[in-house]
Amino acid sequence: MKKSFIVIGLGRFGTSITQTLMKLGHEVMVIDCEEEKVNRASGMATQAIQLDSTDENALREVGVSNFDEAIVAIGSDILASILTTLLLKGLGVTKITAKANNDYHSKVLEKIGADRIVHPERDMGIRVAHHIVSSNVIDFIELSSEYSLVEISASAKMIGKSLEELEIRAKYGCTVIAIKKNGVRAINISPQGRDIIQEGDLLVVIGTYKAISLLEDDLC
Ligand code: ADP
Repeated sequence: MKKSFIVIGLGRFGTSITQTLMKLGHEVMVIDCEEEKVNRASGMATQAIQLDSTDENALREVGVSNFDEAIVAIGSDILASILTTLLLKGLGVTKITAKANNDYHSKVLEKIGADRIVHPERDMGIRVAHHIVSSNVIDFIELSSEYSLVEISASAKMIGKSLEELEIRAKYGCTVIAIKKNGVRAINISPQGRDIIQEGDLLVVIGTYKAISLLEDDLC
């Protein structure tokens, strides 16, 4: 279903969000206080407007409350990000996603009612670090402060063995929730203990940080 979004802040993050939402067929109005950035974005978004998002009247004039969702993509100017989120909330925007630069920023955004807070740099740092430590780790997603989800490509130690033989649950306390098969679109959802890992398989694994890092150390 086609939705309408406002993206505030045309840095790298905001620009990338805008391009993706447009590709997915949604309507996007972008806002930035710098004329040059707005001009550059005019061909990329449905509408591009130059305004200071800490100006309540300016936000009201462009009808922010008529949009389905707003993304506050201002990172470095923390005060502007907080004020913008607060104003959008006050103007009745139903769903607000805001980018946080650090944990303090995130806590304030949470307190003032941002519905979703994202930490793109931190999350990417975590993913890249896992990939550097173990090249078999393709992706890493933090699910909570305790649990994470990793996508691991089958290592030499895994190939030809079943999940039971590898003792993924018994020894490491991790659960393989899916195995993606090499080159085919097939995906084995909720694999059984007797399922054998083959070359090129991708394992989607859930577990605590400790359990996953133990598994990475031993099997990757
Ligand atoms: P990134 O790290 O994703 O590149 P930045 O924080 O560097 O993000 O960029 C934020 C963008 O938000 C910049 O283009 C800046 O001009 C814009 N911006 C900052 N403050 C405001 C504001 N009060 N109103 C509108 N746009 C703003």
